[in-house]
Amino acid sequence: MAEYDYDLFVIGAGSGGVRAARLAGAMGKKVAVAESYRVGGTCVIRGCVPKKLMVYASDYAHYFEEARGYSWQYDIPSFDWKAFTKARDKEIDRLNGLYLKTLQNNNVELISGSARFIDSHSVEVAGKKHTAEHILIATGGWPFIPSIEGAEYALTSNEIFHMPELPNKLVVVGGGFVALEFAGIFKKLGVDVTLIYRGDSFLRGFDQDIRRRVTERILKNMDVRLESHITAIKKKKDGQKQVILDKGEALYTDEILLALGRKPNFEGLNLEAINIEKDENGFIKVDKDFKTSLAHIGAVGDVIDTPALTPVALREAMAWISAIYEGRSVKINYEFLPSAVFSDPNVATAGYSEEEAKQKYGDDIDIYISEFRPMIHTLSGRDNKVMLKLVVQKSTDKVLGVHMVGHEAGETVQGLAIALTAGATKADFNNTIGIHPTIAEDFTFMHTKRES
Ligand code: NDP
Repeated sequence: MAEYDYDLFVIGAGSGGVRAARLAGAMGKKVAVAESYRVGGTCVIRGCVPKKLMVYASDYAHYFEEARGYSWQYDIPSFDWKAFTKARDKEIDRLNGLYLKTLQNNNVELISGSARFIDSHSVEVAGKKHTAEHILIATGGWPFIPSIEGAEYALTSNEIFHMPELPNKLVVVGGGFVALEFAGIFKKLGVDVTLIYRGDSFLRGFDQDIRRRVTERILKNMDVRLESHITAIKKKKDGQKQVILDKGEALYTDEILLALGRKPNFEGLNLEAINIEKDENGFIKVDKDFKTSLAHIGAVGDVIDTPALTPVALREAMAWISAIYEGRSVKINYEFLPSAVFSDPNVATAGYSEEEAKQKYGDDIDIYISEFRPMIHTLSGRDNKVMLKLVVQKSTDKVLGVHMVGHEAGETVQGLAIALTAGATKADFNNTIGIHPTIAEDFTFMHTKRES
């Protein structure tokens, strides 16, 4: 080992990178991590965490409205964007500090700057060469920006957090996680939002019934253009922007958010120097232990073709560390992977959609759907129904998929994902005693199969 500067050199101090670095550090390995921006990565610095704080902030708009139904009297509340962003960023700084401390406590050396491969055992950061026995590529993802006229006038999820003022009008383009979450947040904060999506129902890849319900609800709450593309963005003399749509419409707006997916971030990495294999979509190819085509180099998180979610990157980093330092293969169960979209309405899912289950099991599935107005809205006056859906394999009675549209769907589905991972059957769901009165208790008495 003496021939290398480090046992492990991690590129990228995001969720996956920090987890791998600190585990290896705790094992007594000599570890360095290179980071070009702030330790914590997309999730902590400009993703999940600041976004969820914004979801919480924006949810109060609904609570204020609904409180009147429960006889609360108050003057019209107002929202202070500047004060909120200051408080939010203070919390991000705190978390960033915790991450730095974690690295320090595990004797991981932090090297500031972009890492660039020189050869398969050496990288250069800020003009200095570092060699390592193992290298982990954990550089995450980056927003995809289409090549349309004026794309430079739009924001991505990287910049939207830092708008100095809350805009009066915002155009959001896209129909996936990021688009729906930010459209919902800013709408609730009182911004006039227009959502533009190329398809006819949002959240491609989710269960069709869920997509339909979410799309209906968003159409009711917001100005939406479906089956529309933007062809150009123009900047006007007064600072306003104009979004030109393929059908000829031009929308004036203060800000535009492009949320059109993300691609792996290989900026400046000079991967050409090491020639590792990529798949047809440009992701780094890895084996079951997250080893690339060069066995001493690993890759985890958004640079490989697995779901771009923090908990997934963490598991992958842990699995890679087990493989290289303990000779142990850890199988990650992606089959019942839960995820949530913190949009308005909230959506969460674990396991198979009806369409995926049909593809795998044909007619051997039963579907249970329940839609109802939750108790809170009997007095709140809001007309927000909840949708719960179960996909069950007929022959084994195994629950293959759980889906929910409604308040705090992520909290409910996270619990049920444990049951699915443990192999719960529909009979197990039925035998579970509910907590009354809750929304989630309905999952224990969904007795009527949907007619096929
Ligand atoms: P998504 O893949 O979720 O959505 C991308 C959207 O952009 C889709 O609606 C897609 O349309 C549309 N699109 C893509 N290319 C074009 C184009 N050229 N013209 C017009 N529309 C286009 O990506 P996001 O950026 O929203 O999120 C990236 C990932 O980050 C997610 O998949 C998720 O894994 C993760 N994430 C998770 C969150 C969470 O856990 N709550 C929150 C945010 C992100 P179409 O559907 O037609 O393909």
